[in-house]
Amino acid sequence: MMQHKHEIISSDKALREKGFRVTKGRLKLLALLEHSGQPLSIQQILTLWKGTPPNVTTLYRSLTSLNLSEVVRRIDLNTGIAHFEYTPDRPHHHHIICNDCGTIEEIAGCSLRALEKEIVHSSKQFKNISTHNLEFFGHCIRCTKI
Ligand SMILES: [Zn+2]
Ligand SMILES: [Zn+2]
Ligand SMILES: [Zn+2]
Repeated sequence: MMQHKHEIISSDKALREKGFRVTKGRLKLLALLEHSGQPLSIQQILTLWKGTPPNVTTLYRSLTSLNLSEVVRRIDLNTGIAHFEYTPDRPHHHHIICNDCGTIEEIAGCSLRALEKEIVHSSKQFKNISTHNLEFFGHCIRCTKI
């Protein structure tokens, strides 16, 4: 369903580049996110974790610092629960989410740079925009057939 035809950046390289120590726990976490191919919640990560899982607080802290360094990206799927996805070898993109079954599809590319310029231009207090988060919600084909 989701395809990423981009240069593969290994998670240990991504960690080193962002100044993280390469630990077994971090590698395991990133491998899990990378192989799932879609954003995961902390609960989903713990369910998929093989072996003794880290505690929730440690995991949350780890994901938060990885998010700030853009090794993972935090995504809001309107569920009230943070989801995280692996980002090093994936260009900036958005998602479309089914309101009924939660199916997530990635939207390739982003055409919002022009909008960013417009926003900065009309803003009184901001000089630039560094990034944005935007997800789309609707109904998938399967759910509209029922
Ligand atoms: Zn659906
Ligand atoms: Zn994604
Ligand atoms: Zn975008």
